Amino acid sequence: MIACLERFVHENEAESKPDDDVSSISKSLDLQGCIETGGITAVAAKDFGGLYSVKPLALIKPSGAEDIARVVKAASRTSHLTVAARGNGHSINGQAMAGGGLVIDMRSTEENHFKFLKVNGSPYIDVSGGALWEDVLTRCVSRFGLAPRSWTDYLSLTVGGTLSNAGVSGQAFRYGPQTSNVSELEVVTGKGEITVCSETQNPDLFFGALGGLGQFGIITRARVKLQQAPDMVRWIRVVYSEFEDYTRDAEFLVTQKQGESFDYVEGFVFANNDDPVNGWPTVPLDPDHDFDPTHLPRTAGSVLYCLEVAFHYRNSDHPSTVDTAVTRLLGRLGFVEGLKFQVDVSYMEFLLRVKRAEEHAKANGIWDNPHPWLNLFVSKSDIVEFDRTVFKTMLKDGIGGPMLIYPLLRSKWDSRTSVALPEGEIFYIVALLRFVPKGPSVEKLVAQNQEIVQWCIKKGLDFKLYLPHYQSKEDWKRHFGNQWTRFVERKASFDPMAILAPGQKIFKRNHPSLISC
Ligand code: FAD
Repeated sequence: MIACLERFVHENEAESKPDDDVSSISKSLDLQGCIETGGITAVAAKDFGGLYSVKPLALIKPSGAEDIARVVKAASRTSHLTVAARGNGHSINGQAMAGGGLVIDMRSTEENHFKFLKVNGSPYIDVSGGALWEDVLTRCVSRFGLAPRSWTDYLSLTVGGTLSNAGVSGQAFRYGPQTSNVSELEVVTGKGEITVCSETQNPDLFFGALGGLGQFGIITRARVKLQQAPDMVRWIRVVYSEFEDYTRDAEFLVTQKQGESFDYVEGFVFANNDDPVNGWPTVPLDPDHDFDPTHLPRTAGSVLYCLEVAFHYRNSDHPSTVDTAVTRLLGRLGFVEGLKFQVDVSYMEFLLRVKRAEEHAKANGIWDNPHPWLNLFVSKSDIVEFDRTVFKTMLKDGIGGPMLIYPLLRSKWDSRTSVALPEGEIFYIVALLRFVPKGPSVEKLVAQNQEIVQWCIKKGLDFKLYLPHYQSKEDWKRHFGNQWTRFVERKASFDPMAILAPGQKIFKRNHPSLISC
């Protein structure tokens, strides 16, 4: 088919210069927000990973969806410009960057929407895609005594950023990831159209955008399901020396009915030594509590496992009721006696726990270090082999940060979304959250991550990367497997010129003359 070409400002692309681009776009856009160029765009050239740096042409601070739509349309009239939504830039591998393109600072829209509503009697909140989850929490709890059901561990992430991936924490075994807890989105597509979508209205865009790595549209509003917020949380950690015991108990808890399990289930691997960053001291929840290794059996190996659970309750609950319920649940588990740690904290304190760790890491100057992180979903069928090779051998001395591992249930995820998952019903999230000093070790650790991924591929493990990062189309095809065709079709429908989220490196920007109309 012969192309239709909508001309933009440049008659001759070869002669276009960045400054011309910006001034032409600024003039043609008529934004309510603003465009920043020069040094001020430096923030958009970096992310939490600290591994990549890619300079954009301009940083745009939109006032809302109309501004974003104008920016996308303007980019579509050029042959080369791309547009990346930047949530809070907490990606690791430059996913929210746009080299020579337009980065949209979604945080400038964070105050938009925030509207409480009931749908068929159930409470929801409409929030901006640029809102931070910590603000959603604070506003929902303080104003309505309500809260979203599914979280991430750390809440200085944007609603649009986590919904573009999945959004996973210790509540996901019960409610599914955050992508399973929204009923409606407003999205600016790669054609610059502002579209409301849901399970019944434009469902392909709705499910495509959820877990869609920003490929089909920019989420400007999300309708998030709410529930009654508890007042308090009993937060408990128990220790295992054997992986088989750990997985048996973790899987038992995540497969129980509501009311017959904890409200939050996570866990991590740690080194069997007194290293302050990787070993025993990382387990106690209260600085006054000590980890007494004499409780460990002689058979304990180089690494140990910590199951982390939480029980919600209300101030009006009698203490003995809480004690009885928790004791009954713990009584069904086979952890190492004497290695149980617990504290009672407010629900807000619990959900903001990583913020405290962030403040601490910032004070120690390690928060801004590079973060060569690796996140995977590994099927239950392969998790013992993964533990034996990766945790017990390659990473037995720790990684300078948490090594999370806990089970999730595939049936709580909607297969119509874009997220790629392993095949089995039970799979584990594995998160290697390294904090490393700048220097040559960073490259070695990136190489070690690749070695782990290559080992998983070679062994034929049933696994997927979470927050995936690949460079070649072949790798992306393998990642999506039989979902690849659907992913490509959705791209062709909603972002045919491949303008959006270039930092994911999945599709190359198409020239408008190649697009049929
Ligand atoms: P960005 O990094 O800014 O963007 C991520 C991608 O989404 C980019 O491709 C971007 O273009 C796109 N995007 C951003 N906003 C939008 C939008 N509105 N519409 C469409 N596309 C958009 N994840 C978990 O699931 N569970 C956790 O417990 C968890 N903990 C974390 C803790 C820390 C300290 C950090 C740094 C990350 C953690 N993450 C966790 C990962 C997090 O979900 C991702 O970093 C995610 O990208 C959200 O970050 P962000 O809002 O800064 O998005």
